[in-house]
Amino acid sequence: MTILQMPVRQLGLMVNSFARASTCGTRLFELLDTELDIEDAPDARDLVVTDGVLRFDNVGFRYAGAGRPTLSGICFEARSGQTIGIVGPPGSGKSTIAHLIPRFYDVMSGAITIDGQDISKVTLQSLRKAVGVVQQDAFLFTTSIENNIAYGNPWARETRIGQAAEYAQLHNYIIGLPAGYTTVVGERGASLSGGQRQRLTIARSLMLRPSVLVFDDSTAAIDAGTEQRIRAAMKRFAKDRVTLIISHRLSSLMHADQILFVEGGRIVERGTHEELLALGGRYRALYDLQLRPDDDRPVVTGAA
Ligand code: ATP
Repeated sequence: MTILQMPVRQLGLMVNSFARASTCGTRLFELLDTELDIEDAPDARDLVVTDGVLRFDNVGFRYAGAGRPTLSGICFEARSGQTIGIVGPPGSGKSTIAHLIPRFYDVMSGAITIDGQDISKVTLQSLRKAVGVVQQDAFLFTTSIENNIAYGNPWARETRIGQAAEYAQLHNYIIGLPAGYTTVVGERGASLSGGQRQRLTIARSLMLRPSVLVFDDSTAAIDAGTEQRIRAAMKRFAKDRVTLIISHRLSSLMHADQILFVEGGRIVERGTHEELLALGGRYRALYDLQLRPDDDRPVVTGAA
């Protein structure tokens, strides 16, 4: 594709990226540094997703310079349509589990597979097409809302952009703006509230239709009511993929098919919400702290 054949939206992003690169050099190089260590294996093949089964098989990991392992013996499996919730104290390794799936880092022992294919042996490009990570502080470009949602999929039709925004409960807000979807988002999304920024990044991830979708504390700035509406709207979308929800807020993940309680880099409890409540351990203690036993309404948020 020559530059003349690119859609306007993609050109806009390119121009924007260059402009940002000159002003945000440090951050750009930080991002590039993260990526440099990770390369395709010489005989890497494209990932072929069939059933969409994600499996962690005794995974261990340690950050460079860390004294003790960050993760040890992590095992779980999730089939397409299932939701896995990950909860645990700050620094217990929850986000690291998420970051290993798109290979921001490589595992040091064990393996992560998708439909039986070791992710360290597939091409990065095919893996990252299949895995979407919605992070708490995702990068927004100084361009229109439409471009920001379509980022990663510059050929997207407007109807798909609108649908993604609807799933993320952002559509009504956008169409209420004088310039609608063409409204320019300021530097780092400064003209949007924290919750709106997070909903925009959710919409962006939905556009890519990944086989594995990870929400890494990505609804922290969204009120519980809006979050519930996002979850209801996304039920149909979640049918065809594995969804991982990492959150400090139990109400964000108590509906998951399986909940993993992580502490000190290990899964110390696992089960459904009911099973974990009956177990009377760490999860139960967190539940008692965050939710009123009589009506299940959150009373404490943001603390694990
Ligand atoms: P939180 O709930 O606070 O987000 P978390 O459970 O997601 O925490 P991680 O972010 O996975 O925990 O971090 C696990 C451990 O690894 C922590 O001790 C953290 O300080 C350390 N860590 C995280 N990222 C890095 C990094 N890039 N380099 C070195 N150590 C890191």
